Amino acid sequence: MKPLLSVEHLSVSFSFQNKVVDDISFEIRSGETFALVGESGSGKSITALSVLRLLPNNAQMQAAGMVLQDRDLLKIPEIDFCRLRGRRIGLIFQDPMSSLNPVMTIGEQVAEVLNIHFQLAKDEVRQRVLELIKQVEIPEPERRINEYPHQLSGGQRQRVMIAIALAGKPDLLIADEPTTALDVTIQAQILDLLKNLQQQTGMALWLISHDLALVSNIADRIAVMQKGKIVETAATGEFFRQAKHPYSLKLLAALP
Ligand code: ADP
Ligand code: MG
Repeated sequence: MKPLLSVEHLSVSFSFQNKVVDDISFEIRSGETFALVGESGSGKSITALSVLRLLPNNAQMQAAGMVLQDRDLLKIPEIDFCRLRGRRIGLIFQDPMSSLNPVMTIGEQVAEVLNIHFQLAKDEVRQRVLELIKQVEIPEPERRINEYPHQLSGGQRQRVMIAIALAGKPDLLIADEPTTALDVTIQAQILDLLKNLQQQTGMALWLISHDLALVSNIADRIAVMQKGKIVETAATGEFFRQAKHPYSLKLLAALP
C-alpha cells in the first residue's frame, strides 16, 4: 500500500554549517502511530518543520521527495501550502500556552480554525466546536468554551490544541513532544487521548519524543534519530525484541 507521507533524502542545515538533519528517508502509513525518538537536539523537530514548511528563515533544506497522499509537497505554491497545513496535517507542540491566544475564548479559537477550513453557518460552527471539545474529553464543554486559556489547566490547554488540530479533520496529526511540559500523571492521559482519537478517526499519528518509554506503548513503528540521522526503523515489537543499532540498544537499556 502507498504510504500516507513519504520523505526521501531530506537534509537541513543552518547558515551553511553542518547538517542537523542528514539525508534521512522515512514513510508514515495511513492510520498508523509512528514514533520518532531520539535525544534532544537530534533533529526531530526540524524534520517535522521541514514537512510542514515551517523552517526558520536561516535554514537550508534539500529533499529528493516529499509526498503526502498523491500531492508532491515540494511543488505546492506557498499560498496553497498554508491551507494544507492545519487541514490535511494537524500539528501540536510542546507548549500549548504559547500557541493559544490569551484574549480569545477557547470556543472562539476553535471556531476561528473551523471558519478558515470550512464554510459553515454560525450555529453549525458552535455545534462543531462543542463536538470537538467533547471529543478531547474536556468536561462541561458548554461552560468551558466561554473561558480563556489561563482559566484552564496545562493538560486542558493541550486538549484544546488537539481540538484545534482535529478541526480540519487531518489525515496526519504531528505531535511534537506533546506531553513534555505536563505533569507525569497528565502525560499518560494525553497520550491515551491521542491514541483513542487516532483509532476513532483513522488518522495517522506522528509522535515525536525524546522519551522512548512514553511512546513505546502506543507506537506501531519506531524510528530512532541520532545526530541528524535515522539509525533504525522497526515495528515496535520487533524493535524491543531485536533492535540492532548500538544507539537503539542504549535507549532500550535506559528504559525503567
Ligand atoms: P530535537 O527536536 O530533536 O530536540 P531540533 O530538531 O530542534 O532537535 O534541532 C536539531 C538541531 O538543529 C539542534 O542542534 C539545534 O541546535 C539546531 N537548530 C534548531 N533550530 C535552529 C536555528 N533556528 N538556528 C540554528 N540551529 C538550529
Ligand atoms: Mg524538538
